[in-house]
Amino acid sequence: MISSVFSVLFVSFLLLALIIQFWLGSRHIRHILRNRAAVPAQFAEKIGLASHQKAADYTIAKTKLGMAMLLLNAAVLMGFTLFGGLQWLSVHLVKLTGPGMWYQISLLVAFAIISSVIEFPFTYYSQFVLEEQFGFNKMTMSLFFTDMIKNTLIGAVLGLPLIWVILTLMEKAGSLWWLYAWAFFIGFQMLIMLIFPIVIAPLFNKFWPLDNEEVRERIENLSKRVSFALKGIFVMDGSKRSGHGNAYFSGFGGAKRIVFYDTLLERLAPNEIEAVLAHELGHFKLKHIIKRMAVMFALSLVFMAMLGFFKEQIWFYTGLGVDPMLLAQNDAMAIILFMLVLPVFTFLFSPLSAITSRKHEFEADAFAAKHTNANDLVTALVKMYDDNSSTLTPDPLHSAFYDSHPSASVRINHLLAAQ
Ligand SMILES: [Zn+2]
Repeated sequence: MISSVFSVLFVSFLLLALIIQFWLGSRHIRHILRNRAAVPAQFAEKIGLASHQKAADYTIAKTKLGMAMLLLNAAVLMGFTLFGGLQWLSVHLVKLTGPGMWYQISLLVAFAIISSVIEFPFTYYSQFVLEEQFGFNKMTMSLFFTDMIKNTLIGAVLGLPLIWVILTLMEKAGSLWWLYAWAFFIGFQMLIMLIFPIVIAPLFNKFWPLDNEEVRERIENLSKRVSFALKGIFVMDGSKRSGHGNAYFSGFGGAKRIVFYDTLLERLAPNEIEAVLAHELGHFKLKHIIKRMAVMFALSLVFMAMLGFFKEQIWFYTGLGVDPMLLAQNDAMAIILFMLVLPVFTFLFSPLSAITSRKHEFEADAFAAKHTNANDLVTALVKMYDDNSSTLTPDPLHSAFYDSHPSASVRINHLLAAQ
């Protein structure tokens, strides 16, 4: 009984999420098409019509691909759960391995492989058709496949020990396993953050110290002005894969470094680079990064405790199309089911995270305006929007629901008004 109520609830939430996402997506496309004919007055002097229309077409193409992927994901989700995919996989694997740790690990690995194979055509299409069509793809076929192999190996080297420890805790650590598993998971994540810039990122890209004297000097002065102990300024060969430009921070504690994509450095003047960096430093100084991490850690504790509850409920399995084994561990199955259905039920909360993120963006912009020049940040933003073909006219509701950054005009008006 509870089992069928749970099935109905699951399907209803999935349908609701699909309807909302399709509605937002089609609003977004219609809004962009309505504004395609002319560059918004505010940007008329800075951005050409061809560029504006390219951004519109690019955004629409991406939105359509996103909608196709939503349908695929929903079909895959149903296929794995209520249509019996996971049940079939589990029955066949247990015949091969017998119940126990090997069965559990092979179930997780098989699930990961099947999901990636299904996703592959979309990843490929996105890179070699969509990005290519708009001139952003700089990847060769061989780089694409080398990346894939590297990602798989890294996933195996890091993921398998992690999953082994968590499954062992689930089996042997008693009713508080989720607390220990959470502590281990957090420690693991911190370790990844620490080794990412030194060990993982260099496997994919080259990094070299920024050698432009003027930019260097500006950045060092800025770091002193806002008393930020910057440990390194690096340039990365982002142009190897994509024409999109970016800048990011990595590491923490004594190992904070900033990384600029070569594509971004090429386009921005030294004063604009300084303003962009000031915005990023703002995120640090205003403790946005720590706050975000604290929220992430607290949420993962809640989710771990929820998994602890659900894994003991028969209806959680049967309601999702799986017969749990009564005399063996079902923990790997519980993890997979939980990861599959959690987004369906948490989807409606996603605007909350987007709202917080946009609030932080405004604060970081204000920080940059205070410590550098707001006009430099405005011209840098316009160039970045233009180069990345980000639309200047998103649907306001779509933007409010999804966007981690305020739309260009809102953001720039804020910056200019604060002067
Ligand atoms: Zn930001």
